[in-house]
Amino acid sequence: MKVYKLETNPGIYSSNAYLILGDWNKLEDINALVDTGSDPFIHGHIKRINTGVGKVQLDKIILTHTHFDHIGGVNTLQKMYGCQVLAYTKYDEKIRLIHDGEILHLGDNYFEVIHAPGHSSDSICLYNKSEGILFSGDTQIRINSTDGTYTPEFVNTIKRLAELKISVIYPGHGDPLRENPEGVIQNTLKTIEQSRIYNPQVKNDFFNSSQTKNKKFNYAFSSIE
Ligand SMILES: [Zn+2]
Repeated sequence: MKVYKLETNPGIYSSNAYLILGDWNKLEDINALVDTGSDPFIHGHIKRINTGVGKVQLDKIILTHTHFDHIGGVNTLQKMYGCQVLAYTKYDEKIRLIHDGEILHLGDNYFEVIHAPGHSSDSICLYNKSEGILFSGDTQIRINSTDGTYTPEFVNTIKRLAELKISVIYPGHGDPLRENPEGVIQNTLKTIEQSRIYNPQVKNDFFNSSQTKNKKFNYAFSSIE
């Protein structure tokens, strides 16, 4: 499998966009894009890559979530290539819904869809077991401070990622993480387990109660330990 981090428009705030191809550009390989970035700028780079003779340059677009900086180029690229667009929410007519645990054929390999709520409720990660590749979208992989507050859903997401064998993480922003990705996730899990966990049910009680402000704050956040 080959993964290209595509050049995005330096003048516009954009997520990363990754092109996945098979090693030998076989006819049966699925040329797939993970996120499009903010605009169709990446099209120029896709054109310069050898995506296989007699093959559609782009078969599928998979969105890690539907924030504007990840999906801005979808409509134009979809029209250009006539490709399928897959996402966890049907924010548009053309979306083909994907669900947790679904296996997707991308490039010359297979990826599992991992629903990863936290950054947004529709966030997913894509995981390839045989090569240990994780596309993490905007899921916060590296957390070093216990000052933050996290939802139980996010803690659960990190717990699931911490069980995977990973050799490289391709994030939604910044450079690929090749150095000890599993250690980074383990450290993040440890850190958030020592942080405050947001509990929406307790927050409602907080607004309805007549406790002192300080006490209310303690009710609103509880450590998971
Ligand atoms: Zn985002």
